[in-house]
Amino acid sequence: MHNNGMQARTYLRASLLAAIIVISLKLLAWKVTGSVGFLSDAMESIVNVAAAAFALFIVRIAEAPPDADHPYGHTKAEYFSSGVEGLLIGVAAALILIEAAKRLTHPQPISDVPLGAAISAAATVINLGVALWMLRGARRLRSIVIEADARHLLTDVWTSVGVIVAVMLVPLTGWLWLDPVIGIVVALHILREAFSLVKRSVDGLMDKSMDDADLAGLQAVLDRFRSNDLRFDHVRTRVAGTRRFASMHLHMPGGWSLQRAADCRYAVEKALIEAYPGMTVTIEMLTSAQESLQEENAQMQATGTISYQVCTPGAPPQQH
Ligand SMILES: [Zn+2]
Repeated sequence: MHNNGMQARTYLRASLLAAIIVISLKLLAWKVTGSVGFLSDAMESIVNVAAAAFALFIVRIAEAPPDADHPYGHTKAEYFSSGVEGLLIGVAAALILIEAAKRLTHPQPISDVPLGAAISAAATVINLGVALWMLRGARRLRSIVIEADARHLLTDVWTSVGVIVAVMLVPLTGWLWLDPVIGIVVALHILREAFSLVKRSVDGLMDKSMDDADLAGLQAVLDRFRSNDLRFDHVRTRVAGTRRFASMHLHMPGGWSLQRAADCRYAVEKALIEAYPGMTVTIEMLTSAQESLQEENAQMQATGTISYQVCTPGAPPQQH
């Protein structure tokens, strides 16, 4: 975990350094040509720097070990980063839209296009290389912060490609409206990316379950233990950044000794943690006939009836 955090910081520092170089090149391309397209492209990269700096700060929090105030760890902090990053991309897209609209109503000629395009292309190649390198790292480290940052860089690459092509076509065709129109198309694409990042963040904050493949794998582990005696139900999972949590009921015959039941529970926990290293597993032991009170209450609220078999160990206190 700690090691993962250190590697995550290496990726984010590299992206920060790359962003500074890329912004300088893109601003140079704007200075050389006077193209508003290049200016809006540079503006998007400036958002990258702000986002990467924020991600660095957040990863530091996310990797902190669980403490008394946060006994489940701090990994959910990652979702703030992807949420804020999504919002920043959205703002950048809106700024590009505004610039493009201005350009559309007040067309202006641009100069030294081949030189400006070459400078911007060099910046784009740097961005693409760093983005692909980070995406590989994000998959390996299962880090949503690095993935968000890499996807952001990739949208930056698409913006740049669109802008470079549009700006190069302007002197060739004499169509001054082309630059802003392509800018608008690219901005809409970026807006969609922003939406998916914010959605991802909301999913995490709302305790979304593990994905379908992981859920199937978890059920396959439980299948190895299922028998006439053993039943699993109320299996719940959630993902918090790089951490996974699973809780479930393990129902078994009421006549078993506590030792036998505990051995069984231990074996299930061990198998689950072997399949999903680092997962936090909570297994509640229950008899075959009895359901937990909270599940009975939940069903009572949902349907107004209890279908679970209710057994009463000893006489309940009499109400007078
Ligand atoms: Zn149950």
